[in-house]
Amino acid sequence: MTFIRTTPPRPVDVAAIFPELAPLARPATRLHPRPGVPTPQDSSVGGPLLWPADEPWPHCDAEHEQGGQSLAAVRVEQSRRAREAAHPEGTPGVFGYTPQERAVLERIDWDAEPSDGPVPLLPVAQLYVRDVPVLRPPGQADLLQVLWCPFDHPEMYMPRTAVFWRSAASVTDILTSPPEPLDVEQEEYVPEPCVLAPEQITEYPNSLELSKELREQLEDWRRWEAADAGLDSSWAAYPESFYRSNLSIAPGWKAGGWPQWGYTDPSPRQCPACDTAMEPLLSISTFEWDNGTRSWIPYEDRAAEFSDDDRHRAMWRPTGVQIGSGYRQELYVCPAAPEHPHIELMQ
Ligand SMILES: [Zn+2]
Ligand SMILES: [Zn+2]
Repeated sequence: MTFIRTTPPRPVDVAAIFPELAPLARPATRLHPRPGVPTPQDSSVGGPLLWPADEPWPHCDAEHEQGGQSLAAVRVEQSRRAREAAHPEGTPGVFGYTPQERAVLERIDWDAEPSDGPVPLLPVAQLYVRDVPVLRPPGQADLLQVLWCPFDHPEMYMPRTAVFWRSAASVTDILTSPPEPLDVEQEEYVPEPCVLAPEQITEYPNSLELSKELREQLEDWRRWEAADAGLDSSWAAYPESFYRSNLSIAPGWKAGGWPQWGYTDPSPRQCPACDTAMEPLLSISTFEWDNGTRSWIPYEDRAAEFSDDDRHRAMWRPTGVQIGSGYRQELYVCPAAPEHPHIELMQ
């Protein structure tokens, strides 16, 4: 890891004000993806996987509403944008396409029929346990690989993921040119290659998952005032929102911790194989933060975030991924047997 990101301390120690929350504290790892050039030996989002040369690459056999965009064209746009963002305004030769990019665009057969048949999956995330210690892999595994099929799937309205655990030491020959889909549903299903700056944090449950008694306490501003934590009284009418936005669950890409809810109410997530209650594995988030969660912006990003320069759009959507109209794709894993089938929800 060559860079770090640091979440500012939470505005108050919520477990000191509400001791009932203390046993519910859970570790999570914020991933802090930022555009870069990851290698197969790095934890990454949208980067090359440490995939054995002799293992078949996964494909999706589901029925898709075919059509969409050329993956090659999406990649050209991504590299053009990355180049522009990396250079100060006005640098000659930075804007527009390079000759190589123009050649790629010219080779695309824009009138071709959408490809049929199994779709090779795209790398979404690769997490080494050394970087993301909150992971609980099975057996000797020390590496999590998540891929997805870059099309909407029936009744999901988002890509369908596949999860692999493996031991990095067992991979000697790496597959260097994995198969790729010709088309993708949309550009937002092609994560931009990002390196990670994993950071350990503590989370508390979404208030929708708390007992009625505890929720009533959270909504009682006098409890917050009595703690004399110097809280801004503008929150007095919305203490539960204050908790949800600033004290419970981190926005952005993360592993472990508590699940976010909001698109739906909380619902039980039982393992389809053994009926154990499943736990959050990975949050694939559209936004690293939004207007309601700005207290989570890392110190290192604050100067750029508060500048007027449009190119800093990338600060809060570094991966370019969008789930639904701006949600997150939550993956759950069976704690009893991580190799059991995972489940995923839009939230
Ligand atoms: Zn598919
Ligand atoms: Zn299970």
